[in-house]
Amino acid sequence: MKNPDEKSVVVIGAGVGGLCAAVRLASAGLRVTVIEAQAGPGGKMRTMDSRAGPVDAGPTVLTMRGVFDEVFACAGTRLEDHVTLVAQPVLARHWWPDGSTLDLFADPEASAAAIADLAGARAADEFRRFHRLSAELYTAFDASMMQAARPRLAAIAVNALCNPRLWPVLRPGVTLARHLARQFSDPRLRQLFGRYATYVGGAPDLSPAVLSLIWAAEAQGVWAVQGGMHGLAQALARLAQQQGASLNYNVTAGRIERQEGRVSGVKLSDGRLLKCNQVVFNGDPAALLAGLLGKGPQGAVRPQAALPRSQSAWVWAFAAQPMGVDLAYHNVFFCDDPVQEFGPIAKGQMPDQATLYVCAQDRAAGPPPPGTVERFEIIMNAPPDTKQRAGEIAQCRQRTFPQLARFGLTFDQGPPDSSLTTPQGFATLFPGSQGALYGRSPVGMLAPFQRPGARTALQGLYLAGGGAHPGAGVPMAALSGKHAAEAILSDLALASKSHPTAMPGGTSTGFRTTGRAQSR
Ligand SMILES: Cc1cc2nc3c(=O)[nH]c(=O)nc-3n(C[C@H](O)[C@H](O)[C@H](O)COP(=O)(O)OP(=O)(O)OC[C@H]3O[C@@H](n4cnc5c(N)ncnc54)[C@H](O)[C@@H]3O)c2cc1C
Repeated sequence: MKNPDEKSVVVIGAGVGGLCAAVRLASAGLRVTVIEAQAGPGGKMRTMDSRAGPVDAGPTVLTMRGVFDEVFACAGTRLEDHVTLVAQPVLARHWWPDGSTLDLFADPEASAAAIADLAGARAADEFRRFHRLSAELYTAFDASMMQAARPRLAAIAVNALCNPRLWPVLRPGVTLARHLARQFSDPRLRQLFGRYATYVGGAPDLSPAVLSLIWAAEAQGVWAVQGGMHGLAQALARLAQQQGASLNYNVTAGRIERQEGRVSGVKLSDGRLLKCNQVVFNGDPAALLAGLLGKGPQGAVRPQAALPRSQSAWVWAFAAQPMGVDLAYHNVFFCDDPVQEFGPIAKGQMPDQATLYVCAQDRAAGPPPPGTVERFEIIMNAPPDTKQRAGEIAQCRQRTFPQLARFGLTFDQGPPDSSLTTPQGFATLFPGSQGALYGRSPVGMLAPFQRPGARTALQGLYLAGGGAHPGAGVPMAALSGKHAAEAILSDLALASKSHPTAMPGGTSTGFRTTGRAQSR
């Protein structure tokens, strides 16, 4: 082999995207080294300590499980042999200040019946129509956008042209809020489905209507990971290791080295230099722009690929004994008026009243016995921010717990301040992010096309994670890891074709398979 670094890949970051890329690359026989600044895997899929054990402080809604089935299958194993997933018959329980409540179910007809009880037969029919339209949008965008390495505009256009029902949704300037105003006569349902914009860090009145397809992803099934979502990150990290990847925690990649116009190595905070020809960067692409990984990769992505920033959140993660309401696993307590929530957030302020999402982590398989101290994550949307304001924690506490108490939900003990992660806390945890949790803002029709793809302008530097195509969310970040791995494998195969002696023992894809891979 001419160059021993040719088959070495350094993955910077053990978030979902980085881990999925590592599993795939190691399974294909590459030498993979994962470098992670935190003490363990998961990135945003993290936990915090509580009196009832580690509690999720990141994602809680697992959708599109097929994406993960595929990652594990790639390594010759099955997802269910590594984590226990519990399908949730109730997708989420919703509460409004007027006292009304609504469960949405995995079974759309059960949801329609619940909506009929809430708002009448007309609302149920509107829901059925919305459900069908969302599913059609999902189908139109799945292969051409989410599963594709880059958004395939021609395929999207053909899909859209073939289905006139999609035209009003895809018309330029149609926001999710506007689309929902046409779909639903009941304002509560507009508020409920408008909240899906926040899943990717946007606001309903600014984000494109196509985001209504997120409902279709949820309607295909929502799973809880037994023991908490973090268990999925741990399982992916173990799988990467079993495939031969080396995982290194508590060490930061300080600089991506460049030589002769391409990546040549990664300089670590402990002084080591890892020589390699390929780097997968799983941090926020904004970190590259800001020069946090050195000058070499600074021009690798365009500013529009990372700016403007998406929303952030205030996140409580704690244990307590709940009282007063019958919680499901996923619960949403709506504020009076979404305009009063998203208006201040757009101005960089904490809203007086906000919708609160409550995950009751120990209710994946139903409610525990009364009196149990349970684990909770509460999320309130926030603007991205790098500065902590005076009094912010007290203000956030005030906006959270008295608001829940108005719905009847109280806890035997309020959480300590240390169980709150603020936007500024996220900015510190995820360098370059400015506290934004979902990479580039999804606002604007062209946002999906602005996100960077796996390949960058710097040869040998690839991106994976929520800041890269196809965007934020656990399954999307996992798909970005797939796109990064496939880009590397295809680029190496091309290189080995032009230098056939460079990759001895190469397969048709240009790679030697490892003993593990051969044994499958
Ligand atoms: C509170 C919250 C709730 C969410 N809820 C959901 C949900 O319910 N469902 C859903 O699907 N999605 C949800 N998301 C979004 C989802 O969690 C993310 O989109 C996804 O986990 C991002 O994965 P990633 O691959 O981008 O990596 P990240 O999670 O961003 O991790 C990147 C990793 O890279 C490391 N890193 C960065 N720079 C360096 C460096 N220089 N050296 C070493 N290491 C470095 C970081 O330490 C980090 O561990 C939520 C996110 C948050 C924060």
